[in-house]
Amino acid sequence: MSFTLAIVGRPNVGKSTLFNRLVGKRLALVDDQPGVTRDLREGAARLGDLRFTVIDTAGLEEATDDSLQGRMRRLTERAVEMADICLFMVDARVGILPTDEIFAEILRKKNANVILAANKAEGRAAEGGLIEAWGLGLGEPIALSAEHGEGLNDLHAQLMPLA
Ligand code: GDP
Ligand code: MG
Repeated sequence: MSFTLAIVGRPNVGKSTLFNRLVGKRLALVDDQPGVTRDLREGAARLGDLRFTVIDTAGLEEATDDSLQGRMRRLTERAVEMADICLFMVDARVGILPTDEIFAEILRKKNANVILAANKAEGRAAEGGLIEAWGLGLGEPIALSAEHGEGLNDLHAQLMPLA
């Protein structure tokens, strides 16, 4: 039995970039999957020797400010319920925003099993954001660069116990 990882976090932090890196061309079109809307993309992920299911929370990007909070809450809660573990992604370059705190609160309330990842961590521009990420109270952030494929060994190490 494999496990399911949900990638959650506010728009533009790099969730889909990581999803695509983990899934490559093995994307299972959500249309084929009962109960999964187009706002949750599911794929067969590969990371080193690990094989698992990954869920990308999409569909928040087009939401207006008005509807964003409710939609993102519902989507995230759904993804958390489907997953064994959540990768909560923040942007190490931007630092922690109030919206990130809202996501952290959702995850805490849901008692989710969380891996915290500070993405866009390549280079020095990420140092401040990495330190800020500790303040979320979700443990040590993994310094990740979804775009450049950095930090994936640390992600692997945190996922290994679930395999
Ligand atoms: P999502 O909205 O959370 O799914 O974010 P996307 O995956 O669509 O990425 C948002 C933007 O961040 C895109 O322009 C990506 O190219 C960029 N991005 C993603 N990962 C990284 C990274 O590791 N480093 C940098 N510098 N940019 C990244
Ligand atoms: Mg996306």
